[in-house]
Amino acid sequence: FGPDTAGPILPGAWLGMLGGGQLGRMFTHAAQALGYKVCVLDPDQDSPAGTVADRHLCAGYTDDAALVAMAQQCAAVTTEFENVPAQALDRLEQLGAFVAPRANCVSIAQNRIAEKKFFAACAPKTGVSPAPHWVIEHQADIDQLPADLLPGILKTARMGYDGKGQARVTTREELAAAWKAMQHVPCVLEQMLPLAYEVSVLAARAADGSTATWPLAENVHRDGILFSTVMPSSSVSPDVADKARAAAAIVTGEMQYVGVLAIEFFVLKDGTLVANEMAPRPHNSGHITMDACETSQFEQQVRATARLPLGSTRQHSAGKMLNVLGDVWYEFGLEREPAWDAVVGHAGAKLHLYGKADARPGRKMGHVNCVGASPDEAAAAFEHAAVTLG
Ligand code: ADP
Ligand code: MG
Repeated sequence: FGPDTAGPILPGAWLGMLGGGQLGRMFTHAAQALGYKVCVLDPDQDSPAGTVADRHLCAGYTDDAALVAMAQQCAAVTTEFENVPAQALDRLEQLGAFVAPRANCVSIAQNRIAEKKFFAACAPKTGVSPAPHWVIEHQADIDQLPADLLPGILKTARMGYDGKGQARVTTREELAAAWKAMQHVPCVLEQMLPLAYEVSVLAARAADGSTATWPLAENVHRDGILFSTVMPSSSVSPDVADKARAAAAIVTGEMQYVGVLAIEFFVLKDGTLVANEMAPRPHNSGHITMDACETSQFEQQVRATARLPLGSTRQHSAGKMLNVLGDVWYEFGLEREPAWDAVVGHAGAKLHLYGKADARPGRKMGHVNCVGASPDEAAAAFEHAAVTLG
């Protein structure tokens, strides 16, 4: 028996988490509720997950002594940080831990070039393609760029998030200047598409190969950062939603993925679905599952990591999530605590804070899951929370 075919890891055992951010914190809470102990590896002394974990290994992700300690203590290890070095995941597996997702899956999601190639390879089965694009690695790639890909968006292949590492360009000259400003690192130029909506699908795949997806999430960004998520999407037709969910499930199977995977899709004005990017972990747009669905994305990650059967993804309440950024601490110019009393005083508003000590503009500090018996009720709770948090 290899680790993939071994039986479930039962409560009382230790699970490892690479990364100490809010996603790791919410995983830790879900794992502890199920009776597991959690060991977090993160170099930050005061990380959101490290401070609630049963053990915090305060070291870098490639620190071998820390990886050995984690593999000795934990039967299985997962990640919340998509830029975790693949070598750390490989090392943990080599040390005998069950690692979910495996390094090869995480590597694809870390690089937009590999990610688009993978989505394109899946397209005959999913019916969903990536945006028309062109890899930019040499000056000649700019000269040879097909003219119909402009205007477009230049994106660095690695480390982009929340709209960072991107430039909008309309001419070959602007593209050359933008690529120079990015210090000629490998990039992709994507055709600028006429977006109608941005949606995401949270999908899970268990070690036994079974898959589950949550209802389609519809996302609104502000300044490149997720602002709100409605689940289920109120704008996209059931056919398109079903197609996106099916595509996400197929993608997890094609990678032999184990864990929770988020895929962002664009819905174009003519209804076409485009696969944009994926994250090999729970995702901000899946936070609403904590209060609107039978199984949250974090409990599901615990289940997949521990090789338990997946939980039901049925949605029991309408939901709309509001992100709480550090900006709301500075509403009147001075730093002050936001008006939590008004938020927690509303019956349908569920506040989740990540325990971060310093509020900085643009920093994700928490979120409010607004729920109700109907989408209108959830929207009313959301309006209340949005007004209160300025
Ligand atoms: P990240 O989320 O890693 O910053 P994305 O690829 O999701 O990067 O791009 C950020 C945002 O830019 C998207 O949410 C979308 O609003 C917009 N965008 C990205 N690619 C395109 C595109 N090809 N056409 C139109 N808009 C795009
Ligand atoms: Mg994105």
